[in-house]
Amino acid sequence: MAAREIAPELQKLFDEGEEVYSISRLNCINQCEYQAYLSYIACLPKKTGVWSALGSSIHDALEKCVKGEAEESILKDAINKELENLDILGIDFPLDRNGNPTLRNNWIVNMSKFAQEFKTPKGKFETEKLILLHWKDNIWIQGYIDLIRYDKNGVYIVDWKTSSNYDKKHLVEAGRQLVLYALAMQEEGYTVNRVSWCMLKYCKTTWIQKNGKPKDKISEWRNYIKDLRSVLEKKLSDMGYDEVDTDALLFQAEQDNSMECLPKELRSQFKTVPYVRDYELTDEVIEECKQYINDSIEKYHKCGNVEKNFHPCDINKESFFCSSLCDFSTSCKYWKEYCDQLKYKENSEDEDDLF
Ligand code: SF4
Repeated sequence: MAAREIAPELQKLFDEGEEVYSISRLNCINQCEYQAYLSYIACLPKKTGVWSALGSSIHDALEKCVKGEAEESILKDAINKELENLDILGIDFPLDRNGNPTLRNNWIVNMSKFAQEFKTPKGKFETEKLILLHWKDNIWIQGYIDLIRYDKNGVYIVDWKTSSNYDKKHLVEAGRQLVLYALAMQEEGYTVNRVSWCMLKYCKTTWIQKNGKPKDKISEWRNYIKDLRSVLEKKLSDMGYDEVDTDALLFQAEQDNSMECLPKELRSQFKTVPYVRDYELTDEVIEECKQYINDSIEKYHKCGNVEKNFHPCDINKESFFCSSLCDFSTSCKYWKEYCDQLKYKENSEDEDDLF
């Protein structure tokens, strides 16, 4: 997203010396206390990683579409802009273990197909809504809701996600952001009917089975034809196509990553849309989120502003995070020390070897 100006109501809280937390700030101290120190106390500049650099142009383009300021075709330009930005910043996707740009290629195919298929939703929406939730005493939680649809009976909250889908283990963790948004909207007096992520890399295909019941398949856009192969094969066979013709048609469909080449009668039985993943706001997840927020704020209070109170994460266990995901690895003294020790160890081992 384009850099946001500080909203006047947020600036007022800062001016009055209130404590303002975002979900990122709360998450930061749980990932690594020292990262929280470097980011929020020392306020050092962040290193931009590929995953934090991606998504902003797409978010902006989606916002324009929803506001009726642009056509869906701008999404294609937004994807190109994301890639150009990476070039300008001199950063790239990590290579796979064989040294190939698989992650980059997959991202491009998924997002391009999403851009091609996206239809602006209809309804009364608000985008990028600032929420300020009064937590307790002089503590506030802030955030921005990507999309809110106002219905007769309440609101529907949506967060655009360009990341990978969440597994069971990470669902509650990811869901805290949505819980927080829901709490903030409830505090404003709204009934929250539904909260969801729109997972842009994924699609949902629905078709009617022989028993008349609908069935869904969630896929990455790049694989959706491949993932439907057995269903399509069966339906083509029921329509009287022989094995050779079926193979030829499905080969073409997979190549094109599209159903366009398939018979109209078959295509009309399938509907593929961006994957909207609902999150259930149960009492348990709401309580868990409240506890998490209280515990995280308590950690900040315990550490105060004193550098030595903020401990690094367990670098031996978290070395992937430190090297690839932490925005402060270039300014972290603990990471430097760890890397220096590794190098020293490698050099000493080399000296023992003849070759
Ligand atoms: S590099 Fe590792 S230890 Fe250092 S701040 Fe980042 S996460 Fe913490």
